[in-house]
Amino acid sequence: MPDRAPQPVERQLPTEEARDLIALVRDIVQREIAPRAAEEEDAGHFPREVFTLLSDSGLLGLPYDSDFGGGDQPYEVYLQVLEELAAARLTVGLGVSVHSLACHALAGYGTKEQQTEHLPAMLGGGLLGAYCLSEPSSGSDAASLRTKAVRDGDDWIITGTKAWITHGGVADFCTVLARTGVEGPRGITAFLVPGDAEGLSAATPEKKMGMKGSPTAQLHFDGVRVPDTRRIGDEGQGFAIALSALDSGRLGIAACAIGVAQAALDEAVTYATGRQQFGRPVADFQGLRFMLADMATQIEAGRSLYLAAARLRDAGLPFSREAAMAKLFCTDAAMKVTTDAVQVLGGYGYTADFPVERYMREAKVLQIVEGTNQIQRMVIARHVVGPESR
Ligand SMILES: Cc1cc2nc3c(=O)[nH]c(=O)nc-3n(C[C@H](O)[C@H](O)[C@H](O)COP(=O)(O)OP(=O)(O)OC[C@H]3O[C@@H](n4cnc5c(N)ncnc54)[C@H](O)[C@@H]3O)c2cc1C
Repeated sequence: MPDRAPQPVERQLPTEEARDLIALVRDIVQREIAPRAAEEEDAGHFPREVFTLLSDSGLLGLPYDSDFGGGDQPYEVYLQVLEELAAARLTVGLGVSVHSLACHALAGYGTKEQQTEHLPAMLGGGLLGAYCLSEPSSGSDAASLRTKAVRDGDDWIITGTKAWITHGGVADFCTVLARTGVEGPRGITAFLVPGDAEGLSAATPEKKMGMKGSPTAQLHFDGVRVPDTRRIGDEGQGFAIALSALDSGRLGIAACAIGVAQAALDEAVTYATGRQQFGRPVADFQGLRFMLADMATQIEAGRSLYLAAARLRDAGLPFSREAAMAKLFCTDAAMKVTTDAVQVLGGYGYTADFPVERYMREAKVLQIVEGTNQIQRMVIARHVVGPESR
């Protein structure tokens, strides 16, 4: 049996433009991302220049309005771009997804003046964003956040600490959720804060299990002054804005998960068809054939689920339930598929000589970010059986 080299995923794309976009992404992946991924992840190197290239290529603002520098692409196309990027390197795929999340508030809730002033640089002008919701003592219970913004004339003074911030310390702008009023979700307001604002500093990045090239750091806001013109939406609307961003962001995480899982399957198939034991390729043995078949089926099911949710969003229909389901299913599938890929490679799978151990470490974080999978189940259950009685 000859080695089976991985074939590019056959994608159902709605337009010629979308097909060109995927071809462009595959070209960038092959030239600029995949060849350096393993080495740079190992070294914990953040590929800032790749994000600049993606921005220059029109790939950092794909789902947003072209009037403000976006790409006018439906979510079903944008997510497949993310999948391709994440398959090559999760630091890049997830980084683009987080950047989009950071743009969501201004693009969806900003005034025309704010959008005209800031969006073109954010969507295609080389800037990179961070989304600042989590804090050291508020993760899943995000509505209990404590970072404060206090009014001072025409300005706001922001004080507090954000935790786990992707692109913390390297972002050019931060979408920050801060408390401006009562306890709970109704007292939270969103702000757009420049990355180099006075009083804003980043801690040393966390030492993580995977995605080591992606800086994740606490951000300290020590009396950061921003004008009221950088408040996004109404006072007290911030939590609703944050949740709306997360509905879309969860689809991005789902697509990234399928990218990582696909990369793991490709590697497993190539290995299993080349590795001989008992005088035959190990891919001959039914124990592995069934495992590979299950892996492929999980991936197709996950891809179909995130695309179905994306098509609802593109049609302007509610998609919150389906986004939670896609995030849950795709990230659990990625964890299973990447773990099985290590098994298919046997002892070699457990070494850094092959990328499957990296995929397995990368998959784990996707079950945690943008609402853990326990939180996704809570969201889905509320749609299925209604709110809890207390
Ligand atoms: C690499 C990385 C990047 C991240 N990037 C960002 C970012 O850019 N911006 C940002 O704002 N945040 C970011 N986060 C934070 C992430 O969203 C949080 O880690 C996540 O929401 C969980 O919060 P927590 O870690 O505080 O866990 P906790 O909320 O303390 O949860 C601990 C455990 O309890 C479970 N749990 C909590 N509540 C319930 C419940 N009601 N029912 C059942 N189980 C429950 C959780 O599922 C989890 O298993 C990032 C995290 C990581 C690891």
